[in-house]
Amino acid sequence: MTETLLAEFAATWALVFAASVAVFLSLGLTLEAINRRHPERKIQQREASSDRISDMLASIRQLVVTCTCIALGITLQRAGWGVGPLEPTWWSVPLMAGLGIVLLDAWFYAVHRLLHTRPLYRFHKPHHLNVTPTVWSNDSGHAVDTAMTHSFYVLLPLLLPVPLLSIVLVRLFDQITAIIGHSGYEHFAGATMRWPWLGICTVYHDQHHSAFRYNYANFFSLWDRVFGTIHPDYDTEVTKWEGRFDATEAARRSPAK
Ligand SMILES: [Zn+2]
Ligand SMILES: [Zn+2]
Repeated sequence: MTETLLAEFAATWALVFAASVAVFLSLGLTLEAINRRHPERKIQQREASSDRISDMLASIRQLVVTCTCIALGITLQRAGWGVGPLEPTWWSVPLMAGLGIVLLDAWFYAVHRLLHTRPLYRFHKPHHLNVTPTVWSNDSGHAVDTAMTHSFYVLLPLLLPVPLLSIVLVRLFDQITAIIGHSGYEHFAGATMRWPWLGICTVYHDQHHSAFRYNYANFFSLWDRVFGTIHPDYDTEVTKWEGRFDATEAARRSPAK
């Protein structure tokens, strides 16, 4: 039994790790190419504080920890631990994925606030060495930081009846938005990314790296607004970016004669 469980864990881990590295590299390279074509969308004037390859390797190292959490949760659920998953259907998969995303946002906010306290900050400091983040720095950091944040993936399939496909969707959403959130270039500013909506764009987490004390949440601005930790200039910055996008679009539609 134990050997079967270990073999299943190892196979799941290998699959999840290969998929995570593939998403990391393919999306990172795609965003880099898009960013090169839009230098005017760079958020900070400062250059990245660490080099590309060391950031990439640091992130891949932390993906080992993340994938361990994900594979552990999936393996234990498949072995019959916890509440057991719902039958995957057209409603259960999106419902549980949506619930997982909302819960992960709350979990991330709480753990992230904890990581900013004096006793725990040493585990989070390596991630903050990147004051100007890039697509490659999204996962970089200390293993304890990653384990605290991503132990959510061990608990989720044990405490809630989440089908496997929903876990995959939550993780994909998490990884893709994290890479975009660290990309250093703004492409997604819009009305739904600022008050009174709760969406967030790249500026959000970028401000967390440049100002440290604001914008702790992961997917929505809800918890930062509730607890008063949203950057005071966030909504204004998003509006400014919208204005720049509108001006670029207007210039494109009516080029100077
Ligand atoms: Zn932080
Ligand atoms: Zn970050």
